[in-house]
Amino acid sequence: MHVTEMTTHAIIDALNDQAIEQIERDIGQVKALSDEALALAQTLDPPYDLGIARALAMQVNWYAHQGAYRHVIQLTTELQAYYHQFAPDKWLSSALFCLGFAFQQSGQPTEALKAHQSQLAVARLIKDREGEASALRRIGVAHDSLGDLDLALRYYRESRAVFAAIGDEMGMAGALNNMAYVHARQGGIEAALTIGHQALTLFETQQFISGQITAHGTLATAYTQAEQLDQANRHAATSVELARQLGRPDRFIAALIDLGEVLTAQKRLTEALMTLGEALQLAENADNRVLVGKCLKALSDTYSVMGDHHQALSTFRRYHDLQTDIFNEASQQRYENLEVLHQTAQAQAEAEIQRRLRDDDRRYYEQIARMKDEIVSAASHDLKNPLSTMKTMLYLVRHQVGKDDERLNQYLNTLERNIDQMHYLVVDMLDLARLEAIPTLNPHDHDLIVSIRRVVNELEGRAAIKHLRLGLETDRPSVLVAFDAKRIEQVLNNLIINAIKYTHAGAITVKVETGANTVVVRVIDSGIGIPENDLPHIFERFYRVDDPHHADIEGTGLGLAICQSIIEQHQGRIWVESVVGQGSVFSFELPI
Ligand code: ADP
Repeated sequence: MHVTEMTTHAIIDALNDQAIEQIERDIGQVKALSDEALALAQTLDPPYDLGIARALAMQVNWYAHQGAYRHVIQLTTELQAYYHQFAPDKWLSSALFCLGFAFQQSGQPTEALKAHQSQLAVARLIKDREGEASALRRIGVAHDSLGDLDLALRYYRESRAVFAAIGDEMGMAGALNNMAYVHARQGGIEAALTIGHQALTLFETQQFISGQITAHGTLATAYTQAEQLDQANRHAATSVELARQLGRPDRFIAALIDLGEVLTAQKRLTEALMTLGEALQLAENADNRVLVGKCLKALSDTYSVMGDHHQALSTFRRYHDLQTDIFNEASQQRYENLEVLHQTAQAQAEAEIQRRLRDDDRRYYEQIARMKDEIVSAASHDLKNPLSTMKTMLYLVRHQVGKDDERLNQYLNTLERNIDQMHYLVVDMLDLARLEAIPTLNPHDHDLIVSIRRVVNELEGRAAIKHLRLGLETDRPSVLVAFDAKRIEQVLNNLIINAIKYTHAGAITVKVETGANTVVVRVIDSGIGIPENDLPHIFERFYRVDDPHHADIEGTGLGLAICQSIIEQHQGRIWVESVVGQGSVFSFELPI
């Protein structure tokens, strides 16, 4: 792993750490921190999946807080797919909590149950007692909604025990309240009242208003069951009052429903209708269908008590239709979630395959490069040595033969030319192979003009033999560029020698043109030129123009391939323009 990648991972981890720390304190911070973590984690290549998953988990918390339950459900589904590759952690646990909560609030207790069961498993695995207690309680709530009160009670008890063990009084109060509510509905009035008051006292000492509202509601239900309706009314009214002060519409509506039920039991039916009507209105405004459902059910009961069976029936039908809608949407949502899971899993599988392919490719190329390297050094020894020996032997034989034997000397000349040709070929082949196997450029800031002048000076004699003028034209006295002097001089050497080889009369000019970000060097000759059909292939290895004018001139067909390789390793480019019979211009461009 790259060092910058490592430090970026550490930054993302720190952001996610901070975010989870902030959950109880400042939910706005959670969003900001996780946004940053998410953005950073996604820019990395490969993306930092664990960082992404944790940041998503934090966003889930934020959406849950906003009541955006659909987002919570979709996002958690997505991040769960990520977590297949990682060990579960507290981020996952907190997201699963939100997921269950979102399902519960959207009227899908079965899904909520599953989410909290996963949360429980994670919490136990990572030994997070707080998470364990909250998961147990929420499992109780889900069973409660599903109508399995005995099971609900068992989970509430278990959660209370864990809350007690870790000294979380608020959690304990919550669990007690839930237990009391179950008892109240099961007819265990005494237990309901005792436990309900315990819960209320705990909430009062903690000054936790929200808890007090629910505890009063529970007591109202319990007293209604006990037919102590005045007491019930007192608690229900207190609950409504506290909820009004708290300014939480959901709590307020729930409290109004409790009060409506008590009023119905008290036979104060007009008041009951008004209270429940207000609750229904508010629930509809808040688009909270779970509460709308509760209102409709309570209203239907009130109409029944009133003897208005027509209203009772039509209200109950609305309740029934709403439940059907919720059920249909729940199954639609389940379908969408499965699709998200499927797509995320597929995308991940593809990313994984790509990653593996990239790794395989890299390993493969490294292996080839190593092999090539080994072959190059072995071949350079094995091919060059016999050639040198042959040349030495040729020299000795020439001495033995003496100058007079003309025919034998002619044979020896041919032999020498062929040995030389083979020597150039071997040198070029090895050079190209080495260039490609191990790009060992050694770029430094040099004056390009100095290098060009050096090569031009060296080749002036060679041009003069063919009566060619060789000159340099430059728009600047010096051009500083980072390049490998030996290699660029090799390019210049190749191009100018080619120009000399393929020119029979006239001049060869090396021209330097500097731009804002690049410098272009042109080797211009007045030679035989290159046929248009051959131009696209001229830089290919072993490519030689198949033309009688060219065939007479010796060469290996590797020189331009070597030039191209060197220029490309300098992040530059090389190209040719040529007209048969007029000459050629070979140009290369280097970044300044
Ligand atoms: P070689 O060793 O054959 O010169 P190169 O790779 O340097 O190999 O060049 C490939 C072919 O391109 C040559 O065989 C020649 O036909 C053509 N060529 C290269 N430079 C010139 C030039 N300046 N003028 C005309 N033809 C050229």
